[in-house]
Amino acid sequence: MASQIGFLVPQNTADLHLDPASYTRQRTDAPRNSIVRVYFEERDLTLSYYNNRFDLYCGDYVFVEGKLDGVQGRVVEVNYNFKIKSSDYMRVIAVADTDVRGQFYFAGSHFVAFQPSVLPAEKVKTWFMPACDGDEEVISSYDDTSFLLENLNEWNVSTAVAKHGKEYYMANKVEYLCLNGTKGYALVQGSHMYEVEFTYEDGAVSRLTCSCYCCSHCKHEVAALLQLRETLEQIGEHYGEVYKQTGYFAAVSRSALFTYAVDTKETGCFTL
Ligand SMILES: [Zn+2]
Repeated sequence: MASQIGFLVPQNTADLHLDPASYTRQRTDAPRNSIVRVYFEERDLTLSYYNNRFDLYCGDYVFVEGKLDGVQGRVVEVNYNFKIKSSDYMRVIAVADTDVRGQFYFAGSHFVAFQPSVLPAEKVKTWFMPACDGDEEVISSYDDTSFLLENLNEWNVSTAVAKHGKEYYMANKVEYLCLNGTKGYALVQGSHMYEVEFTYEDGAVSRLTCSCYCCSHCKHEVAALLQLRETLEQIGEHYGEVYKQTGYFAAVSRSALFTYAVDTKETGCFTL
């Protein structure tokens, strides 16, 4: 019998270890000290950082301290054997949580999930921004105006803001949108990632705020509401019954889901 060279040939199926769990990389919560090389696509730059907070792997999306604070990078090398002076190195301060499991439905430009545990806002935020500094005070305020989502034309924004907001919406800059009961939240990509919050009840929008520097209503809010309108229409048309069961949905752009939840994986499985 010809021998197989260079391949491990299992003698029986038991040796294949066909347990799906074995395909999933087991990330531990415990940090594992490492020196990592991080590639910053935005700057076409690769730099080394000390990591003592996470268990990092190649392909992880991270944020770091120092000059490139706020610029997302990708781990391209992990080294566990090192001896350094810690003062010589900046550190990794955040890693994107890309562990996503659950059922997604097609809804136009986005995928939609109806189980709150599948894609909570807190998880998706880690894809786009470092965690908020605990010491920083976040202040928000709103007046008592409200308007119908169906009637955005009556909303008091300038023509320019409405036009730019529509452009953002058309370009799929609303990366994430969720509605938990009446509480809405969206992440909109501008020069930074901005957070839009609102209340949506009986077809009316109120308590609308955005984390950008505009002092009046802005294009990010317009984009988020146009996306809300589209997604609610899609859900009403195709998934009304499923939505009714939880009163919750999270919509994520196709590109964001693939970039963070799919492209970062080397093992795992996928069903369509
Ligand atoms: Zn804004």
